[in-house]
Order: sequence, then C-alpha cells, then structure tokens
Amino acid sequence: MSYTILQVRKGKEQSIFRKHPWIFSGALFTDTKEIEDGEIVEVQDYKGRFLALGHFQNATIAVRILSFDEEKIDKSFFQKKIRQALDSRIKIGLLSTENTIFRVCHGEGDGLPGLVIDFYNGVAVVQCHSIGMHRSLPEISSALQKAFGKDLIAIYSKSADTLPKRLETADAYIFGTCETPHEALENGVKYKIDWVLGQKTGFFIDQRDNRLLLGNYSKGKKVLNTFCYSGGFSLQALLQGAKLVHSLDSSKKAIEMTEEHVSLNKFGKKHASITADAMDYMKELKEDYDIIVLDPPAFAKHREKRHQAIQGYKRLNAHAIRQIKPGGIIFTFSCSQVVDKQLFTHTIIAAAIETGRTVRILAQLHQGPDHPINAYHPEGEYLKGLVIQVD
Ligand code: SAH
Repeated sequence: MSYTILQVRKGKEQSIFRKHPWIFSGALFTDTKEIEDGEIVEVQDYKGRFLALGHFQNATIAVRILSFDEEKIDKSFFQKKIRQALDSRIKIGLLSTENTIFRVCHGEGDGLPGLVIDFYNGVAVVQCHSIGMHRSLPEISSALQKAFGKDLIAIYSKSADTLPKRLETADAYIFGTCETPHEALENGVKYKIDWVLGQKTGFFIDQRDNRLLLGNYSKGKKVLNTFCYSGGFSLQALLQGAKLVHSLDSSKKAIEMTEEHVSLNKFGKKHASITADAMDYMKELKEDYDIIVLDPPAFAKHREKRHQAIQGYKRLNAHAIRQIKPGGIIFTFSCSQVVDKQLFTHTIIAAAIETGRTVRILAQLHQGPDHPINAYHPEGEYLKGLVIQVD
C-alpha cells in the first residue's frame, strides 16, 4: 500500500530517530495543502528515506506517528496494537472479580497517539483526540470486538468534545448498546458509570491506585475529600474503615453521583456531602480532619496560564496545611500537563513555608499503570500527587 508522502526538513528527523511520536507543522518540508485531515502519511527525510507512518492533521501537531516500521496501517495493525494493550492490563490483574474498570488504551503510552479507550464492565468508551483516529474507528471497533470477544457488550464513541468542532461528530454507539448508568467495579467498590452525561469518559480511572493508598491510611479516621466528582476517594476510604467521610464538590450533579455511590455500597451512615467551592470551604475550615484530599481539575491547560495555576495550587494547599489537625495527612494532586512534577513539589513546599508548619513528604504519586508513559514521550506524565504529613 502506498501512502501520501510527507518530507521533513533537514535536521528535523532527529526527534523521529529518538522515537518521539509527534511531528510539528514547522518541521515539514512538503506543502500539505492537498493532504486531507486524518490521512495516513509516510514520513520521509529530506533525502527521501523512510522514517515513519502516521496520521496527518492540519494543526500544530501535524503528524502523530503510528509506526516507525514500513508496514500497513490496516485492520490487523489495530488488532495487534489493541490486543497488546489489553494483554498488558490483564497481565497486571486489572480485569478481575473485584475490578472491571480500566483504561485499555492510553494514546502515546500504547503506541496509538490520539486514541483513548476506557473499559467499564463490558463497555468500551472510545475517545479520539485526532481526526485520523476518528477515521480509523471502523478498524478500532473491529479490533476491540476481536480482542474482548464475548466480554464486550457495546462500544460508545465519545469524541464530540475532543475533535475540532468543524467535524460535527456526534457521540454514539458504534457497536451494540448499553443503558446508562451502568454498574462496574473498582477495587471492590460499585459505581454507576454514565459515559453519555459524565465528564470525560464517565470516570477518573487514573486515580485507582491512589484511592487504594488513601484507603490504607483511612481506618478510624475522619476524611475530607474535596473535588470529589463521583466520590472515588471517599468510597475507598469508607470501604477500608474510615470513621467519617465528607465529600465536597461545587457541582450538584457530582454530589448526587457521590451520594448514589455511597448508598449503592451501603456506606450511608458514615458519610455526608457538601456542595461548596473548595477554596472557600478550605479557607474557613471548621472541622478537624485527619486526612484531606485535594484533587482539583487542571488549573492550567496552557503554558500562559501556568503562573496563575501555581498561585491557585499554592493557595489551596496552604489553606489545607494551615487548617489540618496536627499529624494530619494531605493527599494533594495536579493533573495540569504544563505543571511538571518538580514544579508541583516546589509549589507545595512554598505553601508549607507560608504556613510555618512542619511538613514531610511521605509519598509521591502518579497516574495508574493503565495510563502508561511512553519513554520517548515524557509529556505523557500528567498526574502528579504528594502525600504529606503536617506535624
Ligand atoms: N477526585 C475526583 C476527580 C476530580 S474532577 C475522582 O476521584 O473521581 C474535578 C472535580 O472538581 C469536578 O467534579 C468539578 O465539579 C469539581 N470542581 C471544579 N471546581 C471546583 C471548585 N472550585 N470547588 C469544588 N469543586 C470544584
């Protein structure tokens, strides 16, 4: 099969030799006016030598590389990649009688840039971040059906918010159907997942291991879970014997979801929810919590907003550090891609200094293993967390 050829400027092949999966538009030598968004292209160096195959898009990231080998990007290519991705999750025990929620494919981390697939007890929710992946949906759908076999009830495509508006894509089932919300399990906790109305694909799967760790610390403790969304941290704390858990979110819908999950798991007596702005609540904290979770949405999605975001993280964390009980523990997170691990740690240290209290870092946390980081694409590390203890 022959693909449209795209040449890169002299010297711009270096990042491709290092297996970085993105080619920026400024690196291209070929005029791309005639190339359609989402087309598969063959990338060559300035001398016409093969470098890679990828999805083209008329955007800053012009090519997302699918392969560094000369091969066909067809049904069997997607079958091989999706099978590999699923096998790696099964190997580490993510599909079990206790756990039926996991990410099957994490874009660059699984060699499929632009493609996210989450699995909720029989249903795959596909989110495309590139037009190429959207065009490849028939191959992706058939690869998923083959990999899961009878364990797959439905595939829902949810890319209207992640693709350019001009495509006018609608979210829809592309295989089977399933009523929402749909029950699924994360480490023994039952959830009702709604990929149609919920944020992202319906659930924040990347916090699974961090919820479990919080659970380990929670026996007999009074816990405040801010930015709770569907209540993941609260439920794991309750499952592992917390004395009392308060869940806080500014969204009424999030609180309703959390409460539904609390009653679904029969933890009602030890739980209360608070609909409020987290910053306001933390500023005036009147309760004495043993543990506080701070998991805000990305304060900065772009570099220009980074400074503002840092101020936000610092303020929020300073309130928590100032107010927590002596010996209390804070689980604090940032999912802003433009705030790296070091900058986040420095921000928390700055917040601690501001309060004058003694703070120790007990653990450094990150996204779960079903959100792997491609070693040649360190930008893939987005979720950072710290467990700190305040004396
Ligand atoms: N911790 C959650 C995921 C958090 S998503 C989990 O484990 O699933 C971020 C949440 O922050 C959303 O539910 C959103 O409604 C909430 N949020 C955003 N701004 C807020 C604010 N100022 N105060 C409280 N909650 C806020």
